[in-house]
Amino acid sequence: MKSNSKKGDMTANLKPPRSRHKSSGFISSFDLCSSAFIWGAFFLLCSLSLAPSTPVQEKVDLQITGGTVITMDAQRRVLEDGAIAIRADSIVAVGPRTELEAKYAAAKAINAHGAIVMPGLINGHTHAAMSLFRGIADDLSLDEWLHNYIFPAEARNVTQDFTAWGTRLAILEMLRGGTTTYADMYYFEDDVARVTKEAGMRGVLGETIIDFPAPDNKTLPQAFAYTQKFLDHWKGDPLIVAAVAPHSMYTCSEKTLQDAAALARRNGAPILIHIAEAPFELEQSRNKYGLTPVAYLSRAGVLGPDVVGAHCVWVDHADIATLTHFGVGCVYNPSSNMKTAAGVMPVVEMLASGEAIGLATDGAASNNDLDMFQEMNLAPKLQKLARMDSRALPAEQVVALATITGARALHLEKQIGSLEPGKKADLILVDTSAPHSTPMYNVYSQLVYALKANDVRTVIIAGKIVMEDRQMLTLNEAEILAKANEYQKQVAASLAKSAVK
Ligand SMILES: [Zn+2]
Repeated sequence: MKSNSKKGDMTANLKPPRSRHKSSGFISSFDLCSSAFIWGAFFLLCSLSLAPSTPVQEKVDLQITGGTVITMDAQRRVLEDGAIAIRADSIVAVGPRTELEAKYAAAKAINAHGAIVMPGLINGHTHAAMSLFRGIADDLSLDEWLHNYIFPAEARNVTQDFTAWGTRLAILEMLRGGTTTYADMYYFEDDVARVTKEAGMRGVLGETIIDFPAPDNKTLPQAFAYTQKFLDHWKGDPLIVAAVAPHSMYTCSEKTLQDAAALARRNGAPILIHIAEAPFELEQSRNKYGLTPVAYLSRAGVLGPDVVGAHCVWVDHADIATLTHFGVGCVYNPSSNMKTAAGVMPVVEMLASGEAIGLATDGAASNNDLDMFQEMNLAPKLQKLARMDSRALPAEQVVALATITGARALHLEKQIGSLEPGKKADLILVDTSAPHSTPMYNVYSQLVYALKANDVRTVIIAGKIVMEDRQMLTLNEAEILAKANEYQKQVAASLAKSAVK
């Protein structure tokens, strides 16, 4: 028996269960064991082969869930109860909340219920450190304001330290109001870049080149040498785009403009410049060269697809065609233009010609704040009034100016400006529960005509949270405000002592 059963055992081990059952006609206890083992293996294999169909969640670093997501993508998709998955500095997915919650496991989740989730705002033109000159002189012509107040005040006060603290103050204000990218034209731009990077903000930062001694560089050769070093220092940085900023055609000679453009182009850097801002610029240009500022800059070889022109107010049809032809980004500054009575940018005609238009605050000295919600509010109202047409520049188009077309104006539309997979995770959550934003029928209308900078709840730049539930995470707010108040005393004293009043 023993030997038989042993023989049988061996046979049983070698035979497949089906043929053994057929030959034996019954199942022994050993057969049961063996069969259980094989079927167990079979089920295990089945379950393994079925594994991919059961949901395995992809890991992401951050997920924003719920809320009204305004993508500003080509289809202008708006998702009610949407979500955004973020890995490292980029957006991985944008879609319905239930779908993304099932698909992704996030290390951190932010509940956006009751908020608008949208691309961070892009302030296309400012002079950040001038926040320390907020309100030093108002109610003047641009020419008078610049030459009698701003330039002398800058000569007496602007140092590396002033620029760093002024920029921190500006960044604090901008982040609190939902701005995630800004374009700057100032001095000591290497310090501006350092402070911007420390705050986790994105910047297109242009070192100013101007034909008179500047606070940082007393001569043009010094300014050009400084700018080259600045461009080298920040080349390839993920947050900082170092740029060259010849101030304007009325403060730079043709040679200075051409040299600045050549420096930028040798280094693949953008060119930031004021273009056709005020009537005096048009008048000077016509008297001196018989050309409009745009025609003059075109003839000088300055214009190109790497240029960002601030203002572009005094432009005729031919100028608009020229700016569009060269792919120049143009930035609309409604508050500043109104305050200095500079004029009205023909935004409607420029958009119709295919021009990339951005929106901006300009410096805090001519605004007097850095509030992009206020610019969104005033941008259409100024156009409507100037044209006596209440249909001009509708709300959705205004939100585009502050996001995706603003990104185009800065030549950064491949990276920022909309919420789409592959783009940088620069986004804001805007609370919609306040009385002034209740009820909500149309999300674009609410953003442009009702919501305020203070409604911005959370700000994320390159996947990093820089403000959460209005708590600043990268800046020491109390220290910045104290320093700003110290500087106010110094600047006021410097003006009181001089002939500048
Ligand atoms: Zn400006």
